[in-house]
Amino acid sequence: MQKDSLLANASCLRCTLLNLNCSRIAADADESEGECSQCSGFDGDLPCTTEEELTEDFEQAFSGVIELENGVWILTEPTGESKKIKVDLSSFTADEVQHHAVVDYRPLPDDDEDTSYDRFLAQFEDLSSRWTLLYGDETFYIISKAAVFQRYMYTCGGPIRYDRTRSPLFLALRCLVVSHDIMEIRLQTEPRAQIRSHIHGREAGIERHGGVVPQIGMWLGDNVASDFSESRKPSSDTLCYLLQEIFASAQKSLLTGNPRLWPLVLYTLMMLIVARYQLKRGEGFTDTFLGPHCAVHEALERLADLFLYCCGDMHPLTDAFDPEWFDLCVGGEQMLINDYEEFHELCVVETTNGIELLDELDVHILGLG
Ligand SMILES: [Zn+2]
Ligand SMILES: [Zn+2]
Repeated sequence: MQKDSLLANASCLRCTLLNLNCSRIAADADESEGECSQCSGFDGDLPCTTEEELTEDFEQAFSGVIELENGVWILTEPTGESKKIKVDLSSFTADEVQHHAVVDYRPLPDDDEDTSYDRFLAQFEDLSSRWTLLYGDETFYIISKAAVFQRYMYTCGGPIRYDRTRSPLFLALRCLVVSHDIMEIRLQTEPRAQIRSHIHGREAGIERHGGVVPQIGMWLGDNVASDFSESRKPSSDTLCYLLQEIFASAQKSLLTGNPRLWPLVLYTLMMLIVARYQLKRGEGFTDTFLGPHCAVHEALERLADLFLYCCGDMHPLTDAFDPEWFDLCVGGEQMLINDYEEFHELCVVETTNGIELLDELDVHILGLG
């Protein structure tokens, strides 16, 4: 059994999708560097790679980032200097946090699972009155639609095989919340040259639009090293792990060849674009997120290439998108069709490869051009 599953994983993406015998399976590690015999001569944007290769460099990329608990980070710069940063909500009451902040999914002992799940997703409905206003209406709108879509996939018998809290979209929403700390720190810390060991930023409080301003604590110097021995976040809640899981399950969803999963992957791509942007904002105060940003950037392009390889013209950002064909593909599932028609009206460009698709989503989700 063990051997079978290892062999199955060695097949390249294209052979997996087309159900072909992949010559990578027979090759040893050295030989599998090149293209498999099915891919050689294939002229397109899908390189001959295996599932595992998409996120294989993530752990190395995140080696300078340690999460002790939600909002508490130890960042070790390439120069070896470490700092501990805390995005502190402790001055707010539980009620204030629930109504004015966004917190990561964490089932509480007293709640049933439905309550925790609902409470997490509900935060995205009024996101613009929770997060400091760093995004435009379009961004908030698309994130809220993604949360609605996640709910839909599990209440209307969507074609999902995994648990709802393991769906790539649910994990991508969690990833947005965790990486949003980087935005808060960036917003409230002084330029890096002036950083000292003390409390930064504006005083904690609730802004007029509703969002909380957390207090940012930052500690530098030798004593930070001792914090490495503090207990860390469970590895299954870290940003690195969430991203690995998101990419792996989005890729798996595409490899099923089921068109009803394409919208789920498109929403996941959109949330990953926002997460990538948040990682990029780290450059204002640290170099530790450069590696993660690069790794996510590359994996996103490869996932977008696979997405386009799977769905061809059957995605809403292309002129050639035909709603009637898509309707047939997804068995008349109205929610999927409505969302695709709406996106088709929002933005239509010629996208021939993953990079172009992502650039276009960047423009429409984040207003970056
Ligand atoms: Zn192959
Ligand atoms: Zn191949």
